Amino acid sequence: MSSFFNFTIDAECPDTWARAGTIQTPHGTIQTPIFMPVGTQATVKSVSPEELHEAKAQIILANTYHLMLRPGSQLIADFGGLHSFMHWDGPILTDSGGFQVWSLGHMRKLNEDGVVFKSHIDGSIHTLTPERVMQIEAEIGADIVLPLDICAPYPCAPAEARKAMEWTHRWEERALVEKERQRPEQTLFGIVQGAFEPELRAQSAHTIGAMPFQGLSIGGLSVGEPKQEMWEMLKHVTPNLPRDKPRHLLGVGSPEDLVFGVGMGMDMFDCVLPTRVARHGGLFTNTGRVSIKKARFRTEHGPIDAECDCYTCRTYSAAYVHHLARTEEQLYYRLGSIHNIRFMLRLAEQLRNSILNNNYPAFRDEFLERYIPASEESRESQREKWKAAAQARHNT
Ligand SMILES: [Zn+2]
Repeated sequence: MSSFFNFTIDAECPDTWARAGTIQTPHGTIQTPIFMPVGTQATVKSVSPEELHEAKAQIILANTYHLMLRPGSQLIADFGGLHSFMHWDGPILTDSGGFQVWSLGHMRKLNEDGVVFKSHIDGSIHTLTPERVMQIEAEIGADIVLPLDICAPYPCAPAEARKAMEWTHRWEERALVEKERQRPEQTLFGIVQGAFEPELRAQSAHTIGAMPFQGLSIGGLSVGEPKQEMWEMLKHVTPNLPRDKPRHLLGVGSPEDLVFGVGMGMDMFDCVLPTRVARHGGLFTNTGRVSIKKARFRTEHGPIDAECDCYTCRTYSAAYVHHLARTEEQLYYRLGSIHNIRFMLRLAEQLRNSILNNNYPAFRDEFLERYIPASEESRESQREKWKAAAQARHNT
């Protein structure tokens, strides 16, 4: 793998922090803003790499924590790295495993050197240090890798949040050194932490932004807090980040998060939500998220979403997809996931075009006006909340 990585800004919105950019990696070009489908176990659940390409996925994310436990990073290296093991030839980003250690691992013991934890699968004991994570990620061989971090819980006392942030910063310095020893050609993003303390968020953005990382991931958000708190924190992060590095909002999000997050200056997004909700019958449409299992789709001759260009919508009626979902047929998981992934990617394309056409604020407002986020219940009350949220953004 060559060391080639480059980020250029193609256009910036004059009224918000939105920007459109181009990232070049050894496995191809990524046009931002972009949504990254998540392949936790080296597979985007129920969707093949060919289908990901067909949906115009440009980069996928894989989880270091899961892959180090199963099948093991050495085995992946023996197969020539993750691209070749899973037969995906586009760019890949691996997270550091830090978030999963905090959310899934048991009996965690933290010390300056690293973290010892019990696997959630078989109870085996593992140690992750900033150096070990760089070694594992070198074996997995993704284009973009993240350093080990400490994700503070929500809520979290200010002193604890500061301690976790400072600790993470020290670990990130060690990761930079170790990455050069392991695979200097890999691109290492820094992770901004700081929990829900505005001052810490600003400080972390400034500190990590000044270190020689090639991009920045914003961690520790979308961990159970109300959405408004997440956007509030980004107000203190974005202005303190360097303009010329790509920004990744870790673990976010939904269609509405993508639309908002772009305005907050974020370039890259990843989340299991689109495929997870699809498996439970939740499908995105241009007017909001619907449950395909609802009776109103039983006789629907048209596609799930008349505006969608995905394989599912081009090929099948909503009535057929409804039938598959109701009977819990395996094909449903594939068709539903393809639709939601393509919806996210098409939304990212629309956001990019709106920025290039100097039209992002109008696109955002029009989207918020018509898109009902989650359930179909109390549509009006959701719309009101939504308008209030958009208004808050206008006032910043
Ligand atoms: Zn579709």
